[in-house]
Amino acid sequence: MREKEIKIGDKVISQNTFTMIAGPCALESKEQMEYIINNVTCDFYRAGAYKPRTSPDSFQGLKRKGTEILNNLKNEYSIGIVSEVMSIDQLENFTNIDIIQIGARNMQNFDLLTAVAKLQKPILLKRGMGNTVEELIAASKYIEKEGNDQIIFCERGIRTFETSTRFMLDIAAISILQQETPYPVIVDPSHAAGRADLVEPLSLAAVAAGCNGLLIEVHPNPREALSDAEQQLTVEEFRKIQGKIEQWKKLS
Ligand code: PEP
Ligand code: MN
Repeated sequence: MREKEIKIGDKVISQNTFTMIAGPCALESKEQMEYIINNVTCDFYRAGAYKPRTSPDSFQGLKRKGTEILNNLKNEYSIGIVSEVMSIDQLENFTNIDIIQIGARNMQNFDLLTAVAKLQKPILLKRGMGNTVEELIAASKYIEKEGNDQIIFCERGIRTFETSTRFMLDIAAISILQQETPYPVIVDPSHAAGRADLVEPLSLAAVAAGCNGLLIEVHPNPREALSDAEQQLTVEEFRKIQGKIEQWKKLS
């Protein structure tokens, strides 16, 4: 199967490249994101303006104001941005976002998939926590049906009986998706782990298994974060993982 090359600016995301995506769970302020941009080196920066929260009483994101901040940062710093869209009516705010994320909870929101696909932009399609690899591939076909093959899969952990991590990272899914589709596979160890201390080992396991990139949550001050405080890394913790990945790449 011919591998798909997704070109964004001077970056290429494919089964033959490694792409690092990093940034806070939620965009909290322009200053918060500027700290990350100035202190973290990666290919694309992520931050959620619209947040799918389990409780309606939790911080829901800066919403439209958030996508405006992301658009301004993109222009000021010439950076690539990944951000999640939750519903079709929000899509008008995403025209300048480089990679549109479909979150785990929306993987089978087929009308949303179809509408996002029509923008003809790269889509980071996260696996639902209760969905099989087969269902993830089937969901991607809704994007293909609109003539959009700029698909990036994201394995972010699934629900099992184990409760010591938030979700269980499915390492085998990386190879299966690479074998059965032409699309790159990025791993999100942050939402799988649910705890900062496990992000490094899960990242290294995913790299060893041949993933095409990582999506890691990094926050200027994780303990003060308005969402996912337990799993976000400090800039120093993130840099340590980057160093270990470099070492691994030299070895292999
Ligand atoms: C996220 O990446 O911010 C997120 C909410 O992830 P998931 O959809 O995998 O839970
Ligand atoms: Mn998060």
